[in-house]
Amino acid sequence: MANCQIVDQVYKCCKVGVIGAGAAGLATAKELIHEGHKVTVFEQAMQVGGLWVYDPEVDSDLLGVEPHRKRVHSSMYASLRTNLPREVMSFIDFPFLTQQGNDERCYPSHKEVVLYLEKFATEFDLLDVIQFGTSVEHVELVTTDSTSEKQWKVITTRRIDGVVDEVKEELFDAVVVCSGHYFEPKIANIPGINNWPGKQMHSHNYRLAQPFTNQCVVIIGTQPSGMDISRDVANVAKEVHISGRSWNSSINFAKPMGQHQNIWPHSTVIRTCEDGTVKFKEGSSTMADVIMHCTGYRYYYPFLDTKGLVTITDIVKPIYQHVFPPSLAPSLSFVGLPHKVLPFPLFQFQAKWVAMVLSGKVKLPPTSEMMESIKAFYDQCEASGKPMHQWHDLGDIEFKYLDWLADQSGSEHLESWRSKMKNIAFQHLFNNPDTYQDQWPDEDLHQEALLCLRKLEI
Ligand code: FAD
Repeated sequence: MANCQIVDQVYKCCKVGVIGAGAAGLATAKELIHEGHKVTVFEQAMQVGGLWVYDPEVDSDLLGVEPHRKRVHSSMYASLRTNLPREVMSFIDFPFLTQQGNDERCYPSHKEVVLYLEKFATEFDLLDVIQFGTSVEHVELVTTDSTSEKQWKVITTRRIDGVVDEVKEELFDAVVVCSGHYFEPKIANIPGINNWPGKQMHSHNYRLAQPFTNQCVVIIGTQPSGMDISRDVANVAKEVHISGRSWNSSINFAKPMGQHQNIWPHSTVIRTCEDGTVKFKEGSSTMADVIMHCTGYRYYYPFLDTKGLVTITDIVKPIYQHVFPPSLAPSLSFVGLPHKVLPFPLFQFQAKWVAMVLSGKVKLPPTSEMMESIKAFYDQCEASGKPMHQWHDLGDIEFKYLDWLADQSGSEHLESWRSKMKNIAFQHLFNNPDTYQDQWPDEDLHQEALLCLRKLEI
């Protein structure tokens, strides 16, 4: 890891365009403004909150593969509650605590998260810098004739009630991409699927269980969405069959799972047949009405034109510390790429780093050094056998990474209760999949978190 240093030099104020007003865009706008930059946030929706804003609408193609489909951004389903305790989700300096009359549960619903993000935006005066109903259509590096300086041309479309009201072009010194990565579905490749007569969809387009009443549903994917949706659907469906690669070795494919007597675990789907059968690797099969792909999402930035300097495949690359593409740094950055993390604190640490690099208070290493660091990281991922689509998954190194980011901006490290709480939360989810959201197992740790967060409220 190459080190950055805090330097004593003239403070620079940049004109920065931020794409998206979800949690990442809000954290970024706050930190950029705090650092003295001039900020405009472009948000295609009419409110802040990003994917937490429940939308009853779905993509026009439920599988989410048709490139010209009508798209929706949010992947929230009506019953969704957070899969982490609210305290640990909190931004570094803005606690996510209960408020009387709201959803006071430790694992609240999506609506409560939107309220929290709205409060964050109001508290830090962010609403004035957000252009709502405004989609970023194109972002491109240009050289201005007068100064020969490189700037980013950003083309946006503002819509009112779905009708184009204004198309605008504006130049920015820097662009921070905070557009999220949970809306462009990835699907499983299943032999025979083209002749299978049932209905297919992606979890991105799941909203309510009721349409699955008395149906037989195959869910592909055992990550949190797959497990959570399978329980929701099992309340009304005849049978739910969850298919996955990564079951614990103690799994018994001959027994129903958990509290529901109609959820059956299976290995991977090996093929589907014209008569409606779905066959699993362990030898069993079922007739199914629906296959739901809970198989995750791909990174997708249709507006971004970097002339090939940044490629978007299974990951965004090359990228230094998951934030800066070296050849375009620091004027282009991404906040929010990593997976399997505490998203809100991570966004804020990344945003602080971006803000201070842009102002010149913190220096990035030379491009060649950043490229060397990236190569070493990719070599390490390859040597460990990690598939590329997991290279932004931080897993065990998350807290080391957060400490490193905090050091870049001279911030304090996250308190130790956060890592303890995250680890216990995952163990708790794994051990009690049906009930984990209704009982927190470690009251002492909860009290420690509350004590720490309440101090921030004063
Ligand atoms: P988003 O919330 O997706 O925001 C991106 C914003 O950019 C959106 O408002 C979008 O409209 C806007 N945008 C996109 N493209 C454009 C464009 N071209 N022009 C203008 N605007 C644009 N995290 C937790 O901490 N706890 C949880 O319990 C949890 N549960 C989750 C459950 C699900 C089903 C999913 C998918 C994720 C969950 N997460 C959870 C992780 C989640 O990623 C983060 O909490 C976080 O909210 C993501 O924020 P974001 O700002 O990166 O992206």
